[in-house]
Amino acid sequence: MPQRIAVIGAGVLGLAVARSLASQGAQVTVFDKRYPGSGTSQISYGWVNANGKDPASYHRLNAAAIDEHKRWQAEHPSPAPWLLETGTLEWATHPVIHRQLEQRVAKLRALGYPAESWDRARLQAALPELRPDPRVQKAWFFSSECLLYPGLFIARMLADLRTLNGKLVCHDEVTTLSTTDQGVDLTLASGERWQGDQLVLATGRWSAELLAQCGFELAMTEANHANPAACSFLAHTQPLPIQLSSNIITPELNVRPDGGGRLMLQALDLDQHADPARPVAVDGMIGNEMLRRLRRLFANSQDARIERIEVGQRSRPADGLPAIGYVSGLARVYLMVSHSGMTLAPLLGRLVAGEMLSGARPAMLIDFAPDRLVRPLIEDDKTAAPAYLPAAQ
Ligand SMILES: Cc1cc2nc3c(=O)[nH]c(=O)nc-3n(C[C@H](O)[C@H](O)[C@H](O)COP(=O)(O)OP(=O)(O)OC[C@H]3O[C@@H](n4cnc5c(N)ncnc54)[C@H](O)[C@@H]3O)c2cc1C
Repeated sequence: MPQRIAVIGAGVLGLAVARSLASQGAQVTVFDKRYPGSGTSQISYGWVNANGKDPASYHRLNAAAIDEHKRWQAEHPSPAPWLLETGTLEWATHPVIHRQLEQRVAKLRALGYPAESWDRARLQAALPELRPDPRVQKAWFFSSECLLYPGLFIARMLADLRTLNGKLVCHDEVTTLSTTDQGVDLTLASGERWQGDQLVLATGRWSAELLAQCGFELAMTEANHANPAACSFLAHTQPLPIQLSSNIITPELNVRPDGGGRLMLQALDLDQHADPARPVAVDGMIGNEMLRRLRRLFANSQDARIERIEVGQRSRPADGLPAIGYVSGLARVYLMVSHSGMTLAPLLGRLVAGEMLSGARPAMLIDFAPDRLVRPLIEDDKTAAPAYLPAAQ
């Protein structure tokens, strides 16, 4: 008799684990209160990397996840590839930041992570429209890194899930969940019920709400109000005559190709103004500042326009590291919450499915058990909003 497993959340993490569970014979149903990718997964920079990800176990998890993405795409070619093997170029202008970058590169190289040093001529040849700052004599190229199109990645996982007879229920919120020794019981806003053997909570930034239903509090970084640890602007330009095929991380602006000559822009120092409750106009302060920086960076950008600016809300456990595993005291509920989900999804999907079906905890996940962030709610707190810890990194 196959295991009946519900996955709540059709973001990249929920779909990746659902696909892996179904491929190993489980009877999977995915629930989403809206539609696939409607949460954090639809507003993401999509940089697949293990760069600057500490501690070493977190770096190793992300580095293995890059390989897993590449393997997935190579073994199951898609009519519309979701992963572009572009690499990332990064440079600094301020001497202190330059030194920090060199230290990071030395540490990454010691871990076996590819990082090439490029001189100015090579940088200019790779980015013909670049107007390099005279202080930039050297850049670093991280050749293993990739860029991902979230929509295409989600489409691919949905197609696989269909082929594997997984079920998808959208526009129906899971309103109550309970567990017993015998199984799991869910009620949906429509009044439908689902009963089965196990449950994956892949509910991203809503995970604390769901876990509170089972009497547990989960420490997450606040993402519903302005908070640069969780909220970030992503701006999208119109198609531009700029030949950019890789991801670039520069002191003022991160820029990636976004299809058809469009660019996606991110400026982390502006994120203190990013508030999901207060959308910004494309011709306001944020858009104008991003365009000023883009024009300093590239020729052919004087007439650039921004078509939209979104505020992404990270799904980030309070200490910045993934929370992946069964919650103690809730044997049938598997929690799967992480930032860097675009990078980690295929690998986590496979590891989590393996653990749920075999009972064996993968060595790579040992440092990421959720119990460090979870505690029982005391009776009076059950109706209160969960407490959030400040970001630790
Ligand atoms: C600005 C920004 C930039 C980022 N850049 C990168 C990057 O460069 N590289 C990288 O690797 N990662 C990046 N990330 C992180 C990555 O996007 C996330 O880790 C990932 O999208 C999380 O996916 P998820 O499936 O966990 O959550 P989500 O996509 O949020 O999915 C959760 C789903 O649960 C559903 N749900 C919630 N509650 C219920 C309920 N009660 N009933 C039914 N359904 C429910 C929601 O509707 C939602 O669809 C970035 C994130 C942001 C915000």
